[in-house]
Amino acid sequence: MAQALTDNFGRTFPYLRLSLTDVCNFSCDYCLPDGFKRCSSKPSFLSRQEIINLVDAFTELGTYKVRLTGGEPTLRRDFVEIVKAVANHPNVSQVALTTNGYRLEKQVQKWFLAGLTHLNVSVDTLDQQRFYQLTGHNKLASILKGIDKALELGFAKIKLNAVLLKGVNDQQLPQFLEYVKHKKVSVRFIELMQTGDNLTYFKKHHVANEVLYRQLEAGGWQPKIKASADGPAVEYYHSDYQGTLGFISPYSKDFCTGCNRLRVTSVGDLRLCLFGEQGVSLRPLLQRPEQQPQLISCIQEQLNYKASSHFLAVGDTGVTTNLSIIGG
Ligand code: SAM
Ligand code: SF4
Repeated sequence: MAQALTDNFGRTFPYLRLSLTDVCNFSCDYCLPDGFKRCSSKPSFLSRQEIINLVDAFTELGTYKVRLTGGEPTLRRDFVEIVKAVANHPNVSQVALTTNGYRLEKQVQKWFLAGLTHLNVSVDTLDQQRFYQLTGHNKLASILKGIDKALELGFAKIKLNAVLLKGVNDQQLPQFLEYVKHKKVSVRFIELMQTGDNLTYFKKHHVANEVLYRQLEAGGWQPKIKASADGPAVEYYHSDYQGTLGFISPYSKDFCTGCNRLRVTSVGDLRLCLFGEQGVSLRPLLQRPEQQPQLISCIQEQLNYKASSHFLAVGDTGVTTNLSIIGG
């Protein structure tokens, strides 16, 4: 195995986030309020073989967890085959998915059998009407049924992602608490991030996660001690609840210190940071297994350019116009 990836700040990268497509069928107000639109011609997304070559190189460098994201990754016709290919890789022990849940109820069993181990479903609100207004889809009931199915199947971990939005769901902690009371899931509140496209929305709806964890602490919830490989989320637990609540606070001072992931877009660009500048294209090196040594050197070399942190606090969103391009 090549030397494990370590950047100039001592961070290691066991975790790859791979976007399978930038296409999405939802129109979440903070991400794609007008729905997905393509300005230029449709790119060809990484093929299954290119993905296998990519995963080969990353696992040589110590990666063992791969998250499939998008856009909406499950819209790809070959999604199940991709899950199988990644899950069958001998050095990958965790295959995760981030999905809007559109196909969850019908397909979750197939995904599980294909080897998916970890599931994140975006559920910003448990209120049907609000969910419809926010996403453009009346799918909450089906998504919640899908999560129940997933719980029966025995995934290693199931998370609900909720972007915290002032005036939309910031008063809905009681509903989420009720939800995790008897369900072994983790609800992750993600602080709304500014992107190139959403400044007006951001100004109106951004609220720091702190407002919620102060309420939790008052209700007897305790923060979990983090292990070094845990990534940037802070998780809270309570003995009366089966589930947990977590917080992803990208504007907090130490957020980037815990960064343990690299990203690759659906066309094979390596992105060192969610809010970095244009990444280098790995695609020319994904064509043949014999290119592995070059691919590995290229990834190692690029890591020298990973900055210690993003510059979101000063409104610099890099090239990220919205997160459907790169997968959150
Ligand atoms: N379509 C899938 C989904 O929604 O789960 C995967 C891609 S989506 C970009 C990944 C995650 O990023 C979702 O949980 C979404 O809510 C979150 N997200 C999108 N835009 C965001 C923003 N501006 N700030 C914080 N989270 C955001
Ligand atoms: Fe689509 Fe996910 Fe963006 Fe919502 S957050 S519009 S589901 S990519």
